[in-house]
Amino acid sequence: MKRIAVFTSGGDAPGMNAHIRAVERVGEKRGLEVIGIIGGYSGMIAGHFEVLDRIRTANIIDRGGTVLKTSRCEEFLYPQGREAAARELKAHGIDGVIACGGDGTFRGAHALCLEHHIPIVGTPGTIDNDLSGTDYTIGYDTAVNTATEAIDKIRDTADSHGRLFFIEVMGRHAGFIAMDVGIASGAEFIAVPETITDVEVLYQRVLAQGLDKRTIVIVGEGDELGGATMLSNLINERYGLEARVAILGHIQRGGSPTVRDRVLGSRLGAAAVDALLEGHTDVMVGDMAGAITHVSLEQTWTFRKPVPPVIVELSSLLV
Ligand code: ADP
Repeated sequence: MKRIAVFTSGGDAPGMNAHIRAVERVGEKRGLEVIGIIGGYSGMIAGHFEVLDRIRTANIIDRGGTVLKTSRCEEFLYPQGREAAARELKAHGIDGVIACGGDGTFRGAHALCLEHHIPIVGTPGTIDNDLSGTDYTIGYDTAVNTATEAIDKIRDTADSHGRLFFIEVMGRHAGFIAMDVGIASGAEFIAVPETITDVEVLYQRVLAQGLDKRTIVIVGEGDELGGATMLSNLINERYGLEARVAILGHIQRGGSPTVRDRVLGSRLGAAAVDALLEGHTDVMVGDMAGAITHVSLEQTWTFRKPVPPVIVELSSLLV
């Protein structure tokens, strides 16, 4: 193996730049040439490749987003798109690829691997933390810290006015962000996609807190009742309660990565280079209980990673 490529794809996540930097530095140390693919799968199809070096990857470790850019690429969903991408990879003499993204990125990488036999190692880059085979994903720690800081500010106004607030956090399919942020911000109720949200229980919590007091309800965007606005409307229709809604949205994706995300991104970058050199392919490198793991890409989305039961129990003990 002489030349490898790295790209970021799907939702951007803080820590991706630390990851890119590590791939370039460790690749160079192992005698490899490292190419950056600009703009995820769209860039792969269009042949947007550039050589990475120490200068290109200097002064990026503290930056959010991804210097390699990212995309959602419709064309890659079809065999013709993947064929065009494989052609470009072969034309550029790429012997192995590191794909940093979420489950969509991995589905694409798995298909590319099966159809065109290009060695690919995935690395978990998503704020959602919803990939099986790793305790944490790159970007998650920054996202929960950013969300908690924002909620602390909302709490000040909620407290001053004695208001009920529904605050929506990201997490399309999983309640990791909502659970950790809910516990960290001392929320009175946490609604996540993994559990059935009982509106009557929620109402009783609001009553117990006192109608003239601050009440914070954290809602994971993937909650089966449909997010913070829906939950607020339901409470209003059924019980006549007035509430404010705050949707944190993309603020959770941005910003300088935390130490944890910089270290995780760097560690998995180094491990991904070594995995390719050791002949691993169609796998994701992760970190479980402090050890590097290699799990098949398919496992990362077929096995649903549960929010740890101790965390769910803790959240109900703390209200
Ligand atoms: P994430 O990787 O953050 O989950 P997406 O779900 O948007 O983000 O996926 C990123 C890209 O991966 C998509 O835009 C598409 O190009 C590719 N992709 C997603 N799902 C598949 C699939 N089933 N087959 C092939 N490519 C896919």
